[in-house]
Amino acid sequence: MTQELIEKSKKFLWLPFTQMKDYDENPFIIESGEGIKVKDINGKEYYDGFSSVWLNVHGHRKKELDAAIKKQLGKIAHSTLLGMTNVPATELAEKLIEISPEKLTRAFYSDSGAEAMEIALKMAFQYWQNIGKREKQKFISMQNGYHGDTIGAVSVGSIALYHQVYGPLMFNSFKAPIPYVYRSESGDPAQCRDECLATLEQLLIENHQEIAALTIESIVQGAAGMIVMPEGFLVGVRELCTKYGVLMIVDEVATGFGRTGKMFACEHESVQPDIMAIGKGITGGYLPIAATLATEEIYLAFYDDYEKLKTLFHGHSYTGNQLGCAVALENLRLFESEKIVEQVAKKSEDLHLLLNELKSLPHVGDIRQLGFMCGIELVHSKETKELFPAEKRIGYQVTLKMRELGMLTRPLGDVVVFMPPLVSTREDLRAMVMIIKEAINEVTNGVRAVEV
Ligand SMILES: *Cc1c(COP(=O)(O)O)cnc(C)c1O
Repeated sequence: MTQELIEKSKKFLWLPFTQMKDYDENPFIIESGEGIKVKDINGKEYYDGFSSVWLNVHGHRKKELDAAIKKQLGKIAHSTLLGMTNVPATELAEKLIEISPEKLTRAFYSDSGAEAMEIALKMAFQYWQNIGKREKQKFISMQNGYHGDTIGAVSVGSIALYHQVYGPLMFNSFKAPIPYVYRSESGDPAQCRDECLATLEQLLIENHQEIAALTIESIVQGAAGMIVMPEGFLVGVRELCTKYGVLMIVDEVATGFGRTGKMFACEHESVQPDIMAIGKGITGGYLPIAATLATEEIYLAFYDDYEKLKTLFHGHSYTGNQLGCAVALENLRLFESEKIVEQVAKKSEDLHLLLNELKSLPHVGDIRQLGFMCGIELVHSKETKELFPAEKRIGYQVTLKMRELGMLTRPLGDVVVFMPPLVSTREDLRAMVMIIKEAINEVTNGVRAVEV
């Protein structure tokens, strides 16, 4: 039965973000989960060290979340949001507006983070069209940004490995530099921040008349390798957007819902976005719901007699799905009753101390952390910060070793991602960090032995 399933997986599937040749060498099928662990079809258990790719909040098979879906199923599974609404989608919208930055007053649903960003781009573009500033048609996006994999989201993304091949399909956007302190010349966060802000301001001075919006991840660039922006950067970007009349689209898909120790990461700097994309943790990691939140000013630019054709002509079949919205509502109720955000803020101090223990490893170059969002950058040489040769795929090897040792995650190049479910206890965190340590040691020692 087990072998048969593995053969089927190799024969019929094509997996996302996966070189299938790698999969065929290391096939892997999950059958169940409980708490912060998942179990494969052979019955072996693993820590869900990346929250099933940055989603999971309360662990798997959380009693209350399971019950919320069953309860909703007793009423209806899905009906459309085109021209009408449903009960949980309406209640969830109120809740989302209540917990998000106060300038945001309207929720537009979709099914994934990429779609939420896609909608944000169309909203920003059409906003200026609708108010008669037709020259504002371009975007500024951040170097190393990642906003999902649809073509619009890819156009404002800039991770060469994922995006370069699609170059001819993309619309152009101006790229602004992002402060990557570890790899900056000065290594000084404030200097790095100020240089980047100065470059951005120059770009705005020269082009603001034709720029509709700027896109930026909130405080942490996730897919770029968990790069944490220096203090004052995001709020500096907010000030420049306001000064030059450019909408600020903040992508909280990865950072939202408690991940960084605040409900939304932009709260660390009291930033009020004009448009905010949310997804991932919104359903506790259960079902595909995402949303684009907008200010009343933007909403009103679309509100008019139908013949004016100011409608936002965008929607998806499953938008506002009842099962998803019902579980999202229960997820947010648990955020309150279990004080999830406060817990993450507190436990992330313990996590910081634990991660410090990895600092002395000979190939750990940089450890970046905000809340439960962490990246461990592996380097060939700590002095020169020189990378391992790409073909060694050290990050990938380390995560395979971790799997052997009972923990799942995926690397971003040679950055090992650590994004545990938000309910992980101190003991869980310690156990997971020890697995990371052992895996890094085993793999990087092996590399040295080969070179000697
Ligand atoms: C994951 C992610 C997305 C895309 O979300 P999907 O649900 O995978 O489409 C967008 N932005 C950021 C910052 C992300 O981490």
